[in-house]
Formats: sequence, structure tokens, C-alpha cells
Amino acid sequence: MFSSQAEVFDKERRYIMQTYKRPQIVLKSGKGAILKDFTGKEYIDCVAGIAVNVVGYSHPVVLKAVKEQADKLMHVSNLYYTEPQVELAEKLSEITGMYKAFFCNSGAESIEAALKLATKITGKTGFVAAEGSFHGRTLGSLSVTFGHKFRATFKSLLLNKVKFVRYSDADAVRTAIDADTAAVILEPIQGETGVIVPSDGYIREVRSICSERGVLLILDEIQTGFGRTGRWFAKEHEGVEPDIMTLAKALGAGFPIGAMLAKSGLEFGASEHAATFGGNPLACATALASIKVIETEKLVERSRELGAYFMDKVRDVGLASNPVVKEIRGRGLMIAIELTKNCAEIVNSAQERGVLINCTSDNVIRLVPPLVISKEEIDEVVSVLCAIVK
Ligand SMILES: *Cc1c(COP(=O)(O)O)cnc(C)c1O
Repeated sequence: MFSSQAEVFDKERRYIMQTYKRPQIVLKSGKGAILKDFTGKEYIDCVAGIAVNVVGYSHPVVLKAVKEQADKLMHVSNLYYTEPQVELAEKLSEITGMYKAFFCNSGAESIEAALKLATKITGKTGFVAAEGSFHGRTLGSLSVTFGHKFRATFKSLLLNKVKFVRYSDADAVRTAIDADTAAVILEPIQGETGVIVPSDGYIREVRSICSERGVLLILDEIQTGFGRTGRWFAKEHEGVEPDIMTLAKALGAGFPIGAMLAKSGLEFGASEHAATFGGNPLACATALASIKVIETEKLVERSRELGAYFMDKVRDVGLASNPVVKEIRGRGLMIAIELTKNCAEIVNSAQERGVLINCTSDNVIRLVPPLVISKEEIDEVVSVLCAIVK
């Protein structure tokens, strides 16, 4: 199709709106935690499609499910019943403890559904969100997303009853809730802002404040779900049950799918919400296969163990005490290395040395590899980072 990478870059610039700043590589294939580019060069992938590819690339169980379902039925719309959708909803209820699901195609869409459901249930339109939050880029989800760089151009179109409060400060939530508040929306660990882990007990305290004040709690587990933090869902670290929970990213192991889950008694009625592609048979069969792999390969435990292994390793090699490194933090295989300077250069050098990493908030390296990454691959990542930082 293309004779060189340069041709891909040129045509991308000509035919695609320039919303993304991409490194100069064209990715062609992957296996496990390894990606291969146009030239055949291999990379250990610590991005995983932004915390999406939990079971790694080309997992045989997932591929088999995709092929079998594609052979049978890819899409028929929600005008009809299909088996994979019902099976996935039952499975999600089992692993999350939530009651019912609404299926959509992305994270932002699941946030839209959550905001809309909270508005319907409470009859109110105010929301309390956290400074540093990221919930998506559609107008509703952007309304509860904090960053100026995301919002500035569209400010006049956003929901206007959103109050942003300091993250990890339960008293701030208590003060912000008023008679207009439908829900408090939080990430259990803030992802895009740089893997910000709140203080112990924060989510639990917000949960009790919401219950006392008759306000819904929406937990956005789009990035933290499916074993990423060493638990199936990050809410388990605090033993908290939200009223509404949003999922996407790792749900489909690379196939686009999102879900909004709610507890018993909270639901839309007929025609109150819909999505043409939401929960289509191919997406649901893929998600089911991925969940099966997480279970059979014990990837949740693996995330916990490898997260600890990674932390030990960076300590052993002295990365944590390097003057360029401000802090290393995280849970499971959701890890951040905060630097005292911009990380663009380090991202480039790592890529040259065969490691893909991603930078959030300008100075935070976010490591969210596939949960199937091996210890040897982690060793290699740490030694590459170490060599660069030195
Ligand atoms: C990625 C992300 C979203 C948005 O998901 P999209 O699929 O990109 O719309 C929302 N919330 C969190 C926590 C995310 O990490």
C-alpha cells in the first residue's frame, strides 16, 4: 500500500485533521507486549494503546473469538436481541458488583450516559468534579474534565453547573455539594493528569458524603479497570461501591466498546438513551474473550506482582534517586515517573532504544504496559530508562 513511512506521514498530514502529535513511526503488528513498525524494528510497549491492550497483542483466545463471531454476525443493532451482549452484561455485573449495564462505544460516551442518567435520576443538573480530572472530549464529558488545554476553545458550550474541587480532599467535596448537585464524578486514580493516587480513605469518605447528602457517586474506571491497578477495579482498593461506574479502554482489549453500569434501581427507560453500535455482537464477544483471558491467566494478580517488581527494580538500579526523577508512584501496572523536566526527549530516546512510553502533563512518564509483559521485558524497560536518564 505504502512504499515508505514518509509516504504515510505525508498523506496523514494531507488527509487527516491534525489533532494528534505522533512520533515518526508506523506500527504494523504486535505480539504479547511487543510491537513491530514498518521497518521491522521491535519495541517493548509500555503504552498499550493507552491502558487498553491488557491481554497484549494478538492473543490467540481473543483472536479466535473475534474470528468466530465475525464469521457469524458482526452487527444487527439494538432493535434485536443478541447473545454476546447479554452474556457480557451478566459477566460485568459479576465482576463489578454493579446491577445493570448500558453499552456504548467509548469512554466519553459512557460518561455522557452516566451524566445523563444522574440527571434523570435526581432531576438535577449540577456536578462536582475534581481538578486534574479527565473524563473525555465530547461536550458533556468535557464539561467535567478539568484541563484548560482541552476546554478553552469550547467553553461556552459546556454544562455550566460543574464545580471543580481539589482532588484527594474530601472536605472540598462536602463544601461544593449544593441543592443543585446531581452527582460527584471522580477517577479512583487520575490517569491523564499523571497517575495521581489519592490519599487512603478519600474515595471511601466521598462515598459516605454522597450517601449522607443524597447525591450520586460516579466512579470513572475507564483507565483503571480490568486489572490495571492490581485489582479488577480500583474501587476495590477502598472497598467502595459507586452508584454509577464507567468503563471503556481495556474492556474490549483493543476493540472499541464502552459501558455505563449502575446499581439496582438506577436505569433509563425505553427510548431515554440509545447507541446504534452499542454492545454489538463483535464488540461483546471480544470483551468476553478478553475477560476470560484475564481470569485464566490471573492477570489481575500478575499486575499487582509485576507492579511491585517494577518498583523494586527502579529502586535497585537507583532510578528513584536520580536528580531528574521527582517521584515514582502508581498501583499495579499503572505507574508514573514524574520528572523535574519535560519528558519529550526521554520519550524519543526510549523509542530509539526500542521502548515505547508516553508522557502526560509534560513531565510525567506514564507506564501502562500490557499485563502480560514479562519480567525480562520490565528489566529491559528499566535499564533503558536508566541509561537515558543518566
Ligand atoms: C480515556 C479516558 C476517558 C475517555 O475515553 P475515550 O474512549 O477516549 O472517549 C474518560 N475517562 C478516563 C479516566 C479516561 O482515561
